[in-house]
Amino acid sequence: MKCIVVGGGLSGMASAVWLAEAGHEVLLLERRAALGGRTIAIPQKAINDVPDNGQHVFASGYENLFRYLDSVGTRQHVKFPGHMTARMPGGKTRRAGFWGLEGLRAMVGDLPGVSGLDKLRTARAQTRLFREALKQPADLDQITAEQWFDRCGLPHSARRAMWDGIVIGLTGDKTDISSAKVPADLLVTGIRKGIKMRTPVSIGFPTVDLDTLFVHSAERFFQDHGVTVRTRAPVKSVDIDNGKVQGVTLLDDEVLAADAVICAVPVWQVKDLLVQMPEYHKIEKAVEALTPVPIVSVNLYLDRDIGMKDWGEILYDGEGILEQVWDRQRMHGRDPKDNWFFSTTVSASYELIKKSNAEIVTIQMDMLRRYYPKARDANVVHSHIVRMPNSTFAQRPGTAGVRPEQKTSVQGLAIAGDWTNTEWTTTMEGACQSAARAVEALLTS
Ligand SMILES: Cc1cc2nc3c(=O)[nH]c(=O)nc-3n(C[C@H](O)[C@H](O)[C@H](O)COP(=O)(O)OP(=O)(O)OC[C@H]3O[C@@H](n4cnc5c(N)ncnc54)[C@H](O)[C@@H]3O)c2cc1C
Repeated sequence: MKCIVVGGGLSGMASAVWLAEAGHEVLLLERRAALGGRTIAIPQKAINDVPDNGQHVFASGYENLFRYLDSVGTRQHVKFPGHMTARMPGGKTRRAGFWGLEGLRAMVGDLPGVSGLDKLRTARAQTRLFREALKQPADLDQITAEQWFDRCGLPHSARRAMWDGIVIGLTGDKTDISSAKVPADLLVTGIRKGIKMRTPVSIGFPTVDLDTLFVHSAERFFQDHGVTVRTRAPVKSVDIDNGKVQGVTLLDDEVLAADAVICAVPVWQVKDLLVQMPEYHKIEKAVEALTPVPIVSVNLYLDRDIGMKDWGEILYDGEGILEQVWDRQRMHGRDPKDNWFFSTTVSASYELIKKSNAEIVTIQMDMLRRYYPKARDANVVHSHIVRMPNSTFAQRPGTAGVRPEQKTSVQGLAIAGDWTNTEWTTTMEGACQSAARAVEALLTS
């Protein structure tokens, strides 16, 4: 088949790789000047370093993402240390493990800041949360995660210590916005993957920048397998006639014919592309329902070490948003020479994103000084702020079932992207699983 893939993010690159592996002729079209979508490095000449657009962490259940890394030859660059650290203001830390003693402590309600009777209440509420995730009450998509927590009797201290962070980490959005069904479904996915892999899902990280991991490796693959890549090639429409895909039209009206098309663009850019689809109302509904969530990532190059204990630390008692700090020396084996690189990620950063760069650096440095005694006298050598208003998407109550399937009613057309229906939410794995399903839909039709 002559195939066109629209969109050069993870879902598009994975689709192109797997179609080429299946022996098809592939043309990959990307609107921007480079591939990578939301997973890219942004080189900083001033400091001679290559930070990413934002820290991307992996879960051990990311099967399709690992398949992609196997295909492009970079799986060796992902590491799973099996733990992270929670840090309190003032500098006290505690290992946040996913199994063993730390996992057990969390299960029985022994969490930082949770004391006395609240431990018992937490243990009881957590049992109910897991039970309701596995056997979901009918109204779970009608309430927010916050309402679900209250209903299960989860104390506020346990929410602040762990559960609000879990919801933001899993769903990308705050507990008072996310539908309770989203974290519930993800807990089930985690449990299922854990059983399949005979070990609880754990968190890992790339030991190289995202371009090396995802993009340059794919470009090498494309060269070796005859995949044509066109960047600065925005697609205006996917063309359909008589229930069959014909190809695509670019913004400059160039028409490209194809036997098969995978449309792998984000939910906030898909609207005009698929208007010719008979079930276009489903796309419109998803576009309305899945609203973008911002992430602000701050790359801070400091004149000294701040004394992190782990590769990644979750700051306990933040401002109701998930704040994480990453030690790029540990993660990338980076030699600090004359500057230490720490990056912070602020998820669901609806307020922070509106501030100026100088304000953001001040806020983040104040935060580091509150949590890391060694950061008190640290100076910023170089800073780099990445504001991404469209980072992930929110799934509010009432949106269950709104994410469309990859297979469409149109012969030769499939859709991919983290927003289409997968076992995951807005993640790299969601993007790759959608690509696997889109390719499968085309190959079997
Ligand atoms: C800061 C940040 C941190 C994140 N952290 C994590 C994490 O820790 N773990 C995790 O699993 N996930 C994380 N994610 C989410 C993850 O990056 C995304 O879910 C995933 O990369 C989405 O891939 P995609 O291919 O669906 O979309 P995208 O990467 O957005 O790719 C879509 C591509 O389509 C192109 N395009 C759009 N319109 C057109 C058009 N008309 N014609 C041609 N091309 C077009 C775009 O330019 C883009 O390149 C994070 C995201 C961000 C932004």
